[in-house]
Amino acid sequence: MTITIVGAGLGGLALARVLYVHGIDAVVYERELARDARGQGGMLDIHSGQRALREAGLLDRFHAIARIEGQDMRLLQPDGTLLLQEDTPDDAPPDRPEVDRADLRNLLLDSLPEDTVRWGHAFTAADEGLVHFADGSSATYDLLVGADGAQSRVRALLTDARPAHIGQNVVELGIPDIDRTHPDLAAMVGRGNYWVLGDSLSLAAQRNGDGRVRLGLSFYNTAADWFAISGIPFDDPDAARTRLIDLLPGWHPRFTALIAACDDTIVPRSITTLPVGLTWPSTPDVTLLGDAAHLMPPVGEGANMALLDGALLGLALAAHPDDFPTAVAEYEREMFERTSAAARMSADMQELLMSPDACQRLLEFFQTDPR
Ligand SMILES: Cc1cc2nc3c(=O)[nH]c(=O)nc-3n(C[C@H](O)[C@H](O)[C@H](O)COP(=O)(O)OP(=O)(O)OC[C@H]3O[C@@H](n4cnc5c(N)ncnc54)[C@H](O)[C@@H]3O)c2cc1C
Repeated sequence: MTITIVGAGLGGLALARVLYVHGIDAVVYERELARDARGQGGMLDIHSGQRALREAGLLDRFHAIARIEGQDMRLLQPDGTLLLQEDTPDDAPPDRPEVDRADLRNLLLDSLPEDTVRWGHAFTAADEGLVHFADGSSATYDLLVGADGAQSRVRALLTDARPAHIGQNVVELGIPDIDRTHPDLAAMVGRGNYWVLGDSLSLAAQRNGDGRVRLGLSFYNTAADWFAISGIPFDDPDAARTRLIDLLPGWHPRFTALIAACDDTIVPRSITTLPVGLTWPSTPDVTLLGDAAHLMPPVGEGANMALLDGALLGLALAAHPDDFPTAVAEYEREMFERTSAAARMSADMQELLMSPDACQRLLEFFQTDPR
């Protein structure tokens, strides 16, 4: 019985690892050519997903690479007023540590036999027990798991649902080696998360494990085609930084100094999500996990859910090794319920961030949230 996983992201790899721990083989087909073919992005806040790492037998190794101090939080207003500062004590429990996405992915990759992941295989279609790849090759499957992320192509086998724009456009930038190049800005941002919330605008800065500070400038209540009319010349980094600073009128110079210090990697990202509570009729030989199943606003749940999906599907298959349809139905029942609750929570947080009094509401949230 062949378990074929499409996508070597966190969810697909968590599934492959839990299956491996239970002595079940699986093959992961990944379109990237190698593990380091593409930058993996910044830090992830891992909380409920730690259960998946425990099931994968990797929790201790995860804690060794996670940064507890990455939980630090500073919240400010655009005029520079500091509203909240939470510094994580050295002996704090590792409930929500931050981890570099590439480190976490490498942890999972290194825990699998060398030939589990077949790089350079971009899934295009599936029919009659065969998966087809862009290079013309194909492979058989008894169970096909779409773990191929936000723009999943496997998803179409189960549902017509497509991600839709939610009125947020983000520009991602970064300051490399900040301690050496801009020690004053490094001290200002601190060890974890630094948030400035204005009216339909936010700046989120976050220290990464490699000494880079990543910045996300979010423009809320903007249309799907906003980048085309924003006047940000992405092909001219100097002019793009200047334009971004112009888009923050009245913001304290210490915030615009962060943008001026960024290097030339400036990436636009349009935020889309799947409908909250998306389900599909269970199909015995195909299922989805992670963003392919429940793409949510990026407010700290998606990677946790993807890891949990992978681990829990792995456990269901281990419990029913000769009965994939029962395992899939059992997995989907739990996954639909758990992830719709997470998607609802994420949508509420998104609504808060997009509201005119976002800063005050987020402050109240942090002051009352029993995190
Ligand atoms: C800026 C940002 C910050 C975030 N921060 C957090 C956070 O702090 N905490 C949190 O929980 N979540 C966070 N998320 C969400 C999180 O990143 C995702 O939910 C998570 O990565 C989903 O994992 P996945 O395995 O489903 O998909 P992915 O990690 O996207 O992996 C999908 C894999 O499938 C491969 N693939 C795609 N198409 C094909 C194909 N046709 N054939 C073969 N392979 C294919 C891709 O190359 C990729 O390797 C954030 C998201 C963003 C955008």
